[in-house]
Amino acid sequence: MDFTQAQIRTEELKKLIKENNEAYYVYDNPKITDYEYDELFRELKQIEEEFPLLRTSDSPTQNVGGKAVKEFKEIKHKYRLYSLDNSNNYEDLRKWYERVKKEYPSENDLGLVVELKIDGLSCALSYEKGELKLGATRGNGIIGENITENIKEIKTIPQKLTKPITVEVRGEVYMSVSSFEKLNEENRENGLREFANPRNAAAGSLRQLDSKITAKRDLNFFAYTLISEDKTLFRTHDEAMKQLKELGFDVNPNYRLVEGINPVIELCSKWETERFNLDYATDGMVIKINEIAKQNELGFTSRAPKWATAFKFPPEEVWTKLENIELSVGKTGAVTPVAILTPVQLAGTTVKRASLHNFDEIERLQINIGNDVLIKKAAEIIPKVIKKRDYEDFGIYKAPDKCPSCETPLIRPEGEVALYCPNNMHCPAQIKGRIEYWASKEAMDIDGVGSSVVEKLYEKGLINDFADLYKLTAEDFMQLDLVKEKSADNLYNSIQASKTPSMTKFLTALSIKLIGKETADLISNEFPTLEAIKNASFEDLIKIDGIGDKAAQSILDYFNNENNKKILSKLEEYGVNPKGSTVEKVSDIFNGKTFVITGTLSQPRSFFEEKIKSLGGKTSSSVSKKTSYVLAGENPGSKFDKASSLGVIILNERDFSLLSEGQSINE
Ligand code: NAD
Repeated sequence: MDFTQAQIRTEELKKLIKENNEAYYVYDNPKITDYEYDELFRELKQIEEEFPLLRTSDSPTQNVGGKAVKEFKEIKHKYRLYSLDNSNNYEDLRKWYERVKKEYPSENDLGLVVELKIDGLSCALSYEKGELKLGATRGNGIIGENITENIKEIKTIPQKLTKPITVEVRGEVYMSVSSFEKLNEENRENGLREFANPRNAAAGSLRQLDSKITAKRDLNFFAYTLISEDKTLFRTHDEAMKQLKELGFDVNPNYRLVEGINPVIELCSKWETERFNLDYATDGMVIKINEIAKQNELGFTSRAPKWATAFKFPPEEVWTKLENIELSVGKTGAVTPVAILTPVQLAGTTVKRASLHNFDEIERLQINIGNDVLIKKAAEIIPKVIKKRDYEDFGIYKAPDKCPSCETPLIRPEGEVALYCPNNMHCPAQIKGRIEYWASKEAMDIDGVGSSVVEKLYEKGLINDFADLYKLTAEDFMQLDLVKEKSADNLYNSIQASKTPSMTKFLTALSIKLIGKETADLISNEFPTLEAIKNASFEDLIKIDGIGDKAAQSILDYFNNENNKKILSKLEEYGVNPKGSTVEKVSDIFNGKTFVITGTLSQPRSFFEEKIKSLGGKTSSSVSKKTSYVLAGENPGSKFDKASSLGVIILNERDFSLLSEGQSINE
């Protein structure tokens, strides 16, 4: 590129970036994805590095994007706010660290704090003698908007600190993913504008002229900066974070203090995938030098601190083409459309399929085969389709009227969005789905029996329901050309080895409509044997906390159905016997308490489950507001994060044994 070409492109890029800044910061309504924006920004930075003459002071690379709008009172910040430089690769992270480390040649690895980069809206809060006096948006870093009244509506922002000190606190106002989805759903129903992502929803909700509207939105705040004239209050960023917690703020629990760049990279790579388990959006990680003295020495550029940098995660959203819509018939007969896509890279994986949920969703998205669609990675493993490109019109895909597997006309039960094939007993797709599910990890966990084995067994007429699996011999498996002699034995053995499942597994594996693992767990806690479940009345079932009318009716319908009765008696005949809980109750210490277990403990999980039950408690497989305790071992997963974000008490083994002995712990 020569100078003239660079000049033309620079002007184009500046114009594009400024337009998109306006849409994003002023109207909270971006026109392009963050990834696309970052690509434009990087291109401009690169040209300016190559042709420094083109780097003018009005360039977006030299300023903090954002602007105070007239509707709000302007505020001149006491301490200037900055943006963050960012990169999307580990090599740049290492380069940043080397640049900083060069300033301290005689020191070992530097202390760094690694935090999640919360995708919300930064705010500066001024406290005088412990009282909240002012809340402001960042704006261009020098002038922000006065949003004090709205800030006061956020419950997790204290109006009074635990100490009467004068400080400025900064952090991110954000909206949880679940609240964002709820808000969009409500807006959709009321014909109002939907927000593009939780960040824009948070910004749009906070920058409201009427604070009553802000109050109705579920906003939260994570604090990450403390500024004080009192230099003895904290010496490091880590200490500042602890102070913030003591002062009464929510501090994101996932920050870590490390030494050197290698652990930073490990954390970035861990969160690249684990972020999808969180109920709030993060678009990267922020890395900060821990010592405040060093931060002061390193200082700032006109746009960002030199003592911090951000690592941006690969895009969560990407455009691709909708090549086909596949209809999948589930084990309970629900027919769901699945988007088949031109393969694309998304958040580190190649994506070929995306969820379309149901036919109402296709109607809402107004899409058809041929459209370019934006797909997004969310907490689910399979990404979902968000929208189509505005200018394309391929019409709307028409929902089928017959089952794609057995051609039975489809029905739509009242009050449900899904279409169902009512031919439950004879529809091949449903039969195969139930057998596959029976063998799956979530249910009976039979090694090696996956969709291709089930398909072959069914096609050869060897099985017609999951009970038939138990009458198969090793020779039967030999007939399947995909199975070698040794694996035929293995398959036979693993099926036989699954004959005494726990009651929860067995009940889950039956594929009863509305009865998943969680509900099965609740039922088998109360009715530990198959006989007891069969004899339970509607009233007995709805007495269980967490079981509603529909789930209770579904259980009754299942056990009254003649075909199911046949399958159950076949299972009995082949020796499949769910073992009910044999735990004897020895005390009531845990009465009314629900535990969730996560991570690796010193004993198998069943040991702790039995202990909990023997003390009158219950166990559950997922964390909710109703969870009393999470017992966490080594390497806990997303349940730990969810528990932290819901404020559920987390126990280690020591705490657990204290509690089980009736002693108290420091909650
Ligand atoms: P930024 O979001 O890349 O980084 C700085 C911000 O990170 C801070 O102001 C703060 O709000 C936030 N942050 C979150 N967690 C933090 C933590 N733990 N510690 C410190 N800060 C934390 O920079 P920016 O200037 O606010 O915005 C630029 C970005 O905004 C772009 O990279 C792009 O992703 C997005 N953007 C998108 C569009 C669009 O049209 N899609 C337009 C403009 C900006």
